[in-house]
Amino acid sequence: MTEPDNTDAKTLIRAAEIGREAGLRYVYAGNLPGTVGEYEDTHCPACSYRLVKRRGYVIHEYNINEEGKCSKCGAKIGGIWPKNPSTVGFNGFGLPISV
Ligand SMILES: [Zn+2]
Repeated sequence: MTEPDNTDAKTLIRAAEIGREAGLRYVYAGNLPGTVGEYEDTHCPACSYRLVKRRGYVIHEYNINEEGKCSKCGAKIGGIWPKNPSTVGFNGFGLPISV
């Protein structure tokens, strides 16, 4: 019984805010699905467009094109993304699959 309590949503959100204020481009706080608002999703660092909408491990929306760029403004998004965005799985373990 010496372990710390689980981190609550308020603390996760504050940590995400600190990260964003410090200049981190892809702040994500998805440990408590449905409780951290916009911090559960990935947003474009250039135009703030929602690139990936998630709840837990489930992807509900995916807006990164085949070149790994924001589908709205064309900014390059850091990461390895599927060459064919239509292969991104929804409603399950929607992790982008092999590139
Ligand atoms: Zn953008």
